[in-house]
Amino acid sequence: MSERQHGFNTQAIHAGQAPDPLTGAVIPPIYQTSTFVQDGINVLRNGHEYSRGSNPTRNGFETQLTTLEAGHAGFAFASGIAAEDALLRAVLAPGDHIVLGADGYGGTNRLINRLHGKWGITNTPVDITDTAAVAAAVQPGKTALLWVETPSNPLLGIADVAAWAAIAHAAGALLVVDNTFSTPFLQRPLRLGADVVVHSTTKYIGGHSDVLGGAVIVSDATFRGETLAAAVGLQQFAGGAVAGPQDCFLAARGLKTLGLRMERHCSNAARIATWLDGRAELEKVLYPGLPTHPGHELAKAQSSGFGGIVSLQFVGGEAAARAFAESTELFALSVSLGGVESLVCYSAEMTHASVIGTELAVPRNLVRLSVGIEQVEDLIADLELGLTAARSATLERVAA
Ligand SMILES: *Cc1c(COP(=O)(O)O)cnc(C)c1O
Repeated sequence: MSERQHGFNTQAIHAGQAPDPLTGAVIPPIYQTSTFVQDGINVLRNGHEYSRGSNPTRNGFETQLTTLEAGHAGFAFASGIAAEDALLRAVLAPGDHIVLGADGYGGTNRLINRLHGKWGITNTPVDITDTAAVAAAVQPGKTALLWVETPSNPLLGIADVAAWAAIAHAAGALLVVDNTFSTPFLQRPLRLGADVVVHSTTKYIGGHSDVLGGAVIVSDATFRGETLAAAVGLQQFAGGAVAGPQDCFLAARGLKTLGLRMERHCSNAARIATWLDGRAELEKVLYPGLPTHPGHELAKAQSSGFGGIVSLQFVGGEAAARAFAESTELFALSVSLGGVESLVCYSAEMTHASVIGTELAVPRNLVRLSVGIEQVEDLIADLELGLTAARSATLERVAA
């Protein structure tokens, strides 16, 4: 099938997901096998030998996601962090330096500092919205990677991907974009100049909070004499943190409905952000879709929507934020995001506990919402419960 000519939702459903040629099963089977019979010594059927090297269910999902990201090659891993770790080990050598977006997933920071730090990898955190600061953080001859999430987590800042790419390439470095929040439905970083996209497929791609997974999608770029596809492919095979066939099946099934789900995540989040904006309990509503958001115009230019994550900062400080997070009913108190159900998270102590006490610590009056695809009126009524609890917590604090 000539997938390139098809629209996003058609590619999401068909790329890498052709019916099973053997039986005609419309849904390709889950190849739950570790090894493949050989027709003679090293005479392989369709190139399959052992599932760490290749597995048809995993390969189908990799093709599906790579097509949607307009990538050259893609690799699925057991989790988002396993994907990030494999990428770092594939391209870096001891002594290398990373320019790292300061506002980002706490686990990425822990991986780079606590695991890769031991191997001599250093990093400089930068304000992702300040392009001059990004350029100033580059250490010529030493910086090998620039790494950014946009929108960022949990402050929802917007980075100019094309500007970051230009800075990276001028320094002979690679730009990695974590596209977990936007997904390829809203934003395609490789088209904007990035060299690598990473995903936690646990989030919007799986979309139903029932599977962990990660992926690395690369352009056709070469780095230090090797194609990125070869470097990451070797890391996947030799390092072995591959995604299993059941997990790839679930991620592939989720990916087919990504476009429909994202449309609803975006419209629900926009409705909620607008409804919350200006409420007396809140100091700030952080959502790139609000025209008052400092990254609004940039987000509009480089992506086709603003996503499903909204963060709130409370006038009543930590007490109000905690009371809100513990009082909603539909919005379940939980880490993670991107599922069909709404979640609320107290980021400072839940997703970002690893950076408490550092310059990267999240404001203590902040709550992050992952807006699901439920009926938006029900979600708004639920948030009203949280706001009532936040008001009482604020009054108690004033009285004390
Ligand atoms: C969750 C997440 C990760 C880590 O992925 P896991 O699947 O939990 O290992 C990385 N980046 C972002 C933006 C995330 O939200």
